[in-house]
Amino acid sequence: MTMPAFGTFFLPGPTEVRPEILAAMLHPMISHRSPEFDALYTRCDEGLRRVFRTTRPVFISSSSATGLMEAAVRNAPAGPMLSLVNGAFSARFAEIARACGRTVQALEVPYGQVVPLETVEQALRARRFAAVTAAHSETSTGAAQDVQAIAELAHANGAFSLIDSVSGMGGMPVETDAWALDFALTGSQKALALPPGLAFCAVSDRYLASAAEQPARGRYFDIVEFAHYAARHQTPNTPAVSLFFALDAQLAAIGPTGIECRWARHAAMSAATHAWVEHQRQAGRADGILAPCGSRSATVTVVKTAPGVDARSVVDAVAARGFTLGGGYGKMAATTFRVGHMGDHTVETVSRLLDVVGEVLAAG
Ligand SMILES: *Cc1c(COP(=O)(O)O)cnc(C)c1O
Repeated sequence: MTMPAFGTFFLPGPTEVRPEILAAMLHPMISHRSPEFDALYTRCDEGLRRVFRTTRPVFISSSSATGLMEAAVRNAPAGPMLSLVNGAFSARFAEIARACGRTVQALEVPYGQVVPLETVEQALRARRFAAVTAAHSETSTGAAQDVQAIAELAHANGAFSLIDSVSGMGGMPVETDAWALDFALTGSQKALALPPGLAFCAVSDRYLASAAEQPARGRYFDIVEFAHYAARHQTPNTPAVSLFFALDAQLAAIGPTGIECRWARHAAMSAATHAWVEHQRQAGRADGILAPCGSRSATVTVVKTAPGVDARSVVDAVAARGFTLGGGYGKMAATTFRVGHMGDHTVETVSRLLDVVGEVLAAG
């Protein structure tokens, strides 16, 4: 198989993985109960704490991120959940809670928007909730929620904050400790630019203590079990060892002080993308950005095509030129496309992509 040059794959997950990271997975298999795994686990945990900005352990799950969304719900105290729904993934969080037998009150806004904080506060004051679920960066719409403020409101009203930062973590500021997030989760295949298959979460001491009291938290996603094994630098069951080698290589590349640079690079990529869309809009070749200014994700931009232009044909024409864009989500497939400017991309690789998309839009 020939490896294409890095810089052509802009799906908002899974994202493009550098060849060095893929190569790290060729490491021979090791026992997950060996000193070598202990050292590997320890490095991964330390690196992830820097990504999450936490002094607590970061648990590593061999599952997709949805698994940890389910864990967040299952390990939470009994009682209704308040779910902020502004796109497909935040809707999934609410669905998971319902599927786990919870009563869910959904605060739904049109896709692309964010739920106003006053609405969240009103709902929290009106009724006692066990927890609030929210997506930090809603990958289906490109909208970013103020999860710090949401966590504050949750706490002030006696609820835990369960935060999906699957496409945020590693690409936009997340301060797990400083914002007192009770359950912060992400996946390997978005802004961390790893292959899919691992998911990571950090939980507050209060959440962990409460989890131990929950009778129906299951086994595979039992957070108490994760904590127990993490203390011994292990996972409860056989982890995706090869993916740990990839994670280790990526965390080493991020380095001890690299997370803020990573955030800055993502801010620059999103700014370049926003400027490009505005330029296209002025030229009548696009209808603008779905998410409102001030509530935009740093990792994904959802672009509305000009009236009459089918977004699916734009995605196809861009693919014919060797670049992969994300299609619009669900009902927005014909009217939007998604640019995943995250992971290990740079302003340079994103600019090359946007030149190509610009050519396609200009060709009509
Ligand atoms: C990708 C994504 C998920 C789901 O992750 P999986 O790894 O596919 O389970 C959840 N939430 C958001 C915001 C995402 O972007």
